[in-house]
This record gives sequence, C-alpha cells and structure tokens, in this order.
Amino acid sequence: MATLALPIRPQPAPVAPADLEVFQVKVNRRGNWVIVRMRTSAGITGLGDASHGGADEKTLVLLHRFFARLKGYSVWDVGRFRLDAFAEIEAAGRPAAVAFGALEQCLWDIQGKILGVPAHRLFGGALRTSIRNYANINRSAEPRSPAGFAQMARAAFDAGFDAVKLAPFDGMPRGDDAAIDQHARQAVDCIAAVREVAGPNRDVLVDVHSTLNLERSLKLAEVLEPLKLFWIEEATPRLEDLAEFNRRTQIPTAGGESIFGVKNFYRYIAAGAVDITMPDIKYCGGLLEMKKIAALSEGAGLMVSPHGPASPVGNAAAAQVCATLPNFLILEHSFGEAPWRAELTDPPEELRQGRTNLSNRPGFGISLNEKIARKYAA
Ligand SMILES: [Mg+2]
Repeated sequence: MATLALPIRPQPAPVAPADLEVFQVKVNRRGNWVIVRMRTSAGITGLGDASHGGADEKTLVLLHRFFARLKGYSVWDVGRFRLDAFAEIEAAGRPAAVAFGALEQCLWDIQGKILGVPAHRLFGGALRTSIRNYANINRSAEPRSPAGFAQMARAAFDAGFDAVKLAPFDGMPRGDDAAIDQHARQAVDCIAAVREVAGPNRDVLVDVHSTLNLERSLKLAEVLEPLKLFWIEEATPRLEDLAEFNRRTQIPTAGGESIFGVKNFYRYIAAGAVDITMPDIKYCGGLLEMKKIAALSEGAGLMVSPHGPASPVGNAAAAQVCATLPNFLILEHSFGEAPWRAELTDPPEELRQGRTNLSNRPGFGISLNEKIARKYAA
C-alpha cells in the first residue's frame, strides 16, 4: 500500500511579544478609551481595546502584569495565555477582563499580519462582506428627554443607520414606588418619541440596564409591545427573573454584555435568560471567547449581537469575528460620542448606511492614527 505523503509546509517562526504601548484617549464625561499596541520581536504590531473597564488605573496595572507573563509565550499561544489568565480574571473582575481582552485582540491582529490574512480567516472565514450596526444613542443624547432622544435618533438615521438603541431607564430612583413609576413613564415616552422618528421601517432597541423588578418589567413589556421593538435588553437583574421575563414576553430579549467567558455564558443560556446573547469583545475574553460563546448560542438556537460601546479598534476587532458567525444579528456602534472618532484609525473607520465593510487587509486592517490619539490624549 502506498504511503500517503503529506507536504510539509514551513511553519511560521515563533514571534515573541516584546513591547506594549498604552494610549488613553479622552472621549467625553462617560469615560476614556484605552487602546493598546503590542509590538513583537519581529517588529510587527497589533492593536487591542481595553476601554470601559470601570477603573482604568487598575486596567493599566493588569495590562502590564498580563503582558509580562505573555512575554514568555509566542504570539501563537492564545489558548495557553487564556488558560493561564482565566482564574485571575474571574477573581479580579472587569478591569482584568478588559486588560486580557485587549492583549488577546493584539495577538489575533498580529497573527493575521504575520500570515498576511484578515483575522476573520482565522475564525472560519467570512459569511458576509458587511456588518450591520445599530447606533447606540444613549451615550450622546442630551437632554435625556423625549425630545433629546428623538433628536439624537434623527441624527443617527440621517447618518445612515437604520436601527438605534436607547436606555432611558438610567438614573432610576430607588425605593420610592411613586418616583420609580414616574421615571418609568418618562422612559416609555422617550421610547415612543424615538419610535415616531424611526417610523415603521427602522428598528428601535431598548436597554433597561436591569433597573426594574420582575413585576414592573412585565408591565413594561405590555406597554411596549405595540411599539414593535427589535429587542428589550436586560429588563431585570436576577437571572431567574430574566428567564421568567423571557418566557412571558413576546418582545425579543437580549443581554449578557458583562458576562466573562464561555463557562458563565453557559449558565446564562441554560437558564433561558435571553433570545439574543451579547458578548462584548472587551469583556467576554476576546475574539476566541466570542467565537466560543457564539457557538454555544448557536447550539441553543440563539442569535448573537456583540455588545459595543468601544473605540474604533474594538469595533474593528469585533467585526472580524461577527463576519464569521452564522447566528450574527447586529453589532453595537456608539454614536455621536466624539466627532473625530473615525479618524482615530488609519484608514478611518467608515460606515455606509450603518454598515461596516469587512476589511480584507491583514489582521484587523487598521493602524492607530497617533496624531489623533495624542491630540485627544487623556
Ligand atoms: Mg446593555
């Protein structure tokens, strides 16, 4: 019997992470962006987004601590790095998750550049050439009134988006029933105002930010049903209540943005919490973890809509995975936060009709525009 001779291809040489730079960029009163750039021993660089960790000083410390450990690996050792860091991330929480996630993003960007392929090729290949985004207007709407949200929604539609998200329950008072009801009524007015601007053919997404108890969230769902929402996100905080809410409402439900790791997503999905999972590329453990979470969701018959608010670097990284997911629904884009946002990367971030054209350049296909990063340095 003839032996089957497989051609032996030369393996890419090991490349060690050698240097890390951190850029903190001032965005608005809701926080800064933290962008990291990793350089390898071969001089190749990769980008990652470590924003919105809740405590940037802690994130910076953890970035350097994780990076010191990563220096012992090659850039191909994502799985080992993951195993090595996960227990510490679960103990240290969000600042550690974003630090790890940013470094993990850098590794995929670098791998793509070494191989000369876009990162999506490392995750099964692209199923689509453009990524639909919704505009999150919650971080930019002022004042937070029906008129304020409607005005920002109109700006997003004028910019080409066909879906917007708002979270008008923010600032919910505690304890006082009458004050809670009053705030909830105002929030519904904001949603109705945005639906009016949207008309019947655009999508409106509502994030409740877990501000209601089960009883109130069910009443709210009844009130909102005629407004034909695209989804209602994180109506109530307790997992079992969220699952009951999901069973009892007709409105599609979404959530899970702050969950780290496939193991924690398993519990969330198994409980029946939502119809649509929302892993965040910054919080969930990076690109590989997002792919795993999406696969878990696919197995459970759920769609995936990665949570956004991120810098253009985070959105570029997320888009590379989104392109490969059979159950991808829509990606979050933080709208109206900073007029220079698009310029922070080279080439500048470009959305047409609210869609990101998938980059086919190596890695994530972008580099940092240092001039802009320094001009708006925090
Ligand atoms: Mg949310």
